[in-house]
Amino acid sequence: MKLNNNTAKALKADFPIFRHNLGLVYLDNAATSQKPSSVINAVKEFSERDNANVGRGVYSLAARAMKKYEQARKAVANFIGALPEEIIFTKNTTESLNLLAYTLSQTIEKGKEIAVTEMEHHSNIVPWQQLAKRNRFKLKFVKITKDFTLDMNDLKVKLNDKTAVFAFTYASNVLGTINPVAEIVKFAKSKNVITVIDAAQAIQHLSVNVKEIGCDFLAFSSHKMLGPNGIGVLYGRKELLEKLEPFGFGGGMIETVSPDSATWAKIPEKFEAGTQNIAGAVGLTEAINHIKKIGPNEIADWEEKLKDYVLKRLNEISNIKIYHPEQNSAPIISFNLPGIHPHDVASMLDQKKIAVRAGHMCAMPLMEVLNAKGGVCRASLSFYNTFEDIDALVDSLKEIQQKFNKI
Ligand code: PLP
Repeated sequence: MKLNNNTAKALKADFPIFRHNLGLVYLDNAATSQKPSSVINAVKEFSERDNANVGRGVYSLAARAMKKYEQARKAVANFIGALPEEIIFTKNTTESLNLLAYTLSQTIEKGKEIAVTEMEHHSNIVPWQQLAKRNRFKLKFVKITKDFTLDMNDLKVKLNDKTAVFAFTYASNVLGTINPVAEIVKFAKSKNVITVIDAAQAIQHLSVNVKEIGCDFLAFSSHKMLGPNGIGVLYGRKELLEKLEPFGFGGGMIETVSPDSATWAKIPEKFEAGTQNIAGAVGLTEAINHIKKIGPNEIADWEEKLKDYVLKRLNEISNIKIYHPEQNSAPIISFNLPGIHPHDVASMLDQKKIAVRAGHMCAMPLMEVLNAKGGVCRASLSFYNTFEDIDALVDSLKEIQQKFNKI
């Protein structure tokens, strides 16, 4: 089904949040997406009908719960072109990246370096920074250009024979920039660098295929792609996951335990210690079904139209500063109205039921580079947004600017 403004309105009706918050203009989808009834109901139904712990029980109810949990793993694997055993369930993107930083650190030789980019979210900086501090590795930042894209020349200098790991975002949560991930991975491989992709912002907007990209690891969160909170994904190439040491220890991840030693279960269980978010996994399956039903390409086409419209309309505002590349971007648009603090802008928009994010966006190093130390305002879109949502935003921003100019 081709999406347009009318179908977007119809799709919005699947999301109960809009019935309970009449007039809400939700433009904070990069922080978390709203959840359709199908996802909410799947979690509820699982809890009402199928709830049992997985991995241990021999009775039918436990077998049913286990089946649903493993179906979720298959659904995720299928969604990103991976094998089921390459999918590890975590709490969120942040936990996936922490898991990796911890376990990879044991494989990195002394004197090696780790690289990230200037456009990373804190979740893809701090785990590497702390690992670098603990092990005395150098942490390097690949620069961004004045056009808000990744500086590929700098990347080719920073990734060299000393680099052990390059952790970078697929799509920036501030700039919307979509990085040329396959090209980056190809170059990194030529230097024997392990690649870790933060796909937290890509997963809701793009078709992500790990085999086509060729990356070693990729992380994302369910709650940013219509799914429940508290469940995330770490994809890892099978050969690598098999070699790595576990991150958490306890029940569910062992093969044998004696008083003074233990051996580990096969992947993916080796990385899933303790009881997992089973209902969350079931909800995530339904989120994937929901996206597939609408069509990832149709979603991308419609979001591209919405993005063009928001950029066109924002440019009507005099002196607005927009932090967004010309091409290859997700519908995530950060901006500042000169002389007005982004928090004031967001608070005044809230009075009109318009939800945007304001502040450093968990990307303080990027704010320094952008010379936006007070932060930015960010409007981030989803397929259920409409032209009217964007008109409401831009008309309100114009009013805010007029009010401030009078003071
Ligand atoms: N990476 C990026 C690019 C993000 O935008 C976010 C959240 O906004 C995260 C990582 C962290 O995601 P989570 O809070 O779900 O772990």
